[in-house]
Amino acid sequence: MATERKCPNCATWNKDEDYCTKCGTVLSPQIIEEKREEEREVRRKSKPPTKFDLFLSRWENSKYLGLRILYKIVYGVSVAFFAITSFFAWLAASPNG
Ligand SMILES: [Zn+2]
Repeated sequence: MATERKCPNCATWNKDEDYCTKCGTVLSPQIIEEKREEEREVRRKSKPPTKFDLFLSRWENSKYLGLRILYKIVYGVSVAFFAITSFFAWLAASPNG
């Protein structure tokens, strides 16, 4: 059974074609999905690191030992802070608190 696909671009009906016979628009849902996946991949790879990311990595890989230690401390404090806040959030959410 041949399915017909209507081109979303020029409204031409195509017989089970992957591409529109008139304007070349992709009609196959499989190819469309593949292309979308490809674009997503490209966008993820080309996403530039933010200034904050650059700042952090420069700090972490600093040639100064003091700065690297400071980084570990700040990192540790922020992790501890997150743990404490989520603990209090858990306390607040618990029915016995
Ligand atoms: Zn078309």
